[in-house]
Amino acid sequence: MVFESYCELQEIIMKKRVLSGMRPTGRLHLGNYLGAAKGMLELQNNPEYETYFTVVDIHATTTPYDAKTLRQSARDVYIDYLSVGLDPEKSGITIQSDLADLITQLSFYFSSVESVARMQDLPTFKEKVRQHPHNVTMALLNYPLLMAADILIYKASLVPVGIDQEPHLEVAREVARRMNDRFGMDFPEPKRFSTKAEYVPSLLGEGKMSKTVEGSAIDLNDDLDTILKKLSKAPTDSGQGEVVPTTGGVANLFQFVELFQGSPKRAEYESQYTGNGVRYGDLKKELAQAIFEELRPIQEKRKELELDPEFVDRMILEGAEKSRIIAEGTVREVREKMGLR
Ligand code: ADP
Repeated sequence: MVFESYCELQEIIMKKRVLSGMRPTGRLHLGNYLGAAKGMLELQNNPEYETYFTVVDIHATTTPYDAKTLRQSARDVYIDYLSVGLDPEKSGITIQSDLADLITQLSFYFSSVESVARMQDLPTFKEKVRQHPHNVTMALLNYPLLMAADILIYKASLVPVGIDQEPHLEVAREVARRMNDRFGMDFPEPKRFSTKAEYVPSLLGEGKMSKTVEGSAIDLNDDLDTILKKLSKAPTDSGQGEVVPTTGGVANLFQFVELFQGSPKRAEYESQYTGNGVRYGDLKKELAQAIFEELRPIQEKRKELELDPEFVDRMILEGAEKSRIIAEGTVREVREKMGLR
């Protein structure tokens, strides 16, 4: 690499690193987009940061999954990444298993500084145990260490993810501290970078919007009709009351209005609620249109990319090559400091 000037070299050395990833457990939805992808884009487009993004297919193996379709699903999420505006010229964008040798290796080393009890106590682990009681595997228990490896392999200090990931980030910070104390590493303690919508609710009225909860999500590739159909199933009430609900279906709808149509529109509906009443049919129609307008350019970009599979393949390959350079350096350093050959 040739640097134009000392300043340019200095700038690259000083840049803060960023890492974020999503599981290929289905197509991306509004929660992924607003809670994570928007933050990823903001940091990618800020020259103060050096950004790495990954489709975490190894994480998908921690819950029941279909081996036959996993690679295709990972590629689909990769294309979603490019469609929302992640740019291989600016960021290292990978499919995690292309660096499996390095990331799983690092997560194993990390497992030597964390206790089983700590991993079992995490709320995210307990929730997965409830969801999949017959699939409580070592891989599931190791999920947070794999995520710590995803982040720390780049020595990333900023992680744009939704608030649901905070317990995992706490583990990553713990691992960083212990690796630094015990082995003299210089890992940063990664912090979450939050967006305005760090928790996008489910359409079902409770819980978060999620790929793995049927009927909870609007997908990035949904057309106007599908969005309207999904919204029409969202639970509501009579449309009138003395106080505006703060939880449940109606509160969630108002939150979506704020996210896609702005705060004044939300205030308008709220005053209708405590006044003459809200007509949910009209609200949902307008909201569906606003959501679709935001998704339309993403869908158009996706269509373009689907016409050029070779370009996508090349980006996946180059992304892995570019990211591997940094990842190899970190793993080599950890091995040396841990007394391994
Ligand atoms: P899912 O829960 O849909 O399977 P992932 O676990 O793959 O999604 O999460 C990918 C990213 O999207 C993470 O940064 C996560 O915090 C974020 N995310 C997922 N669901 C939501 C949501 N409902 N609101 C905000 N962010 C979310």
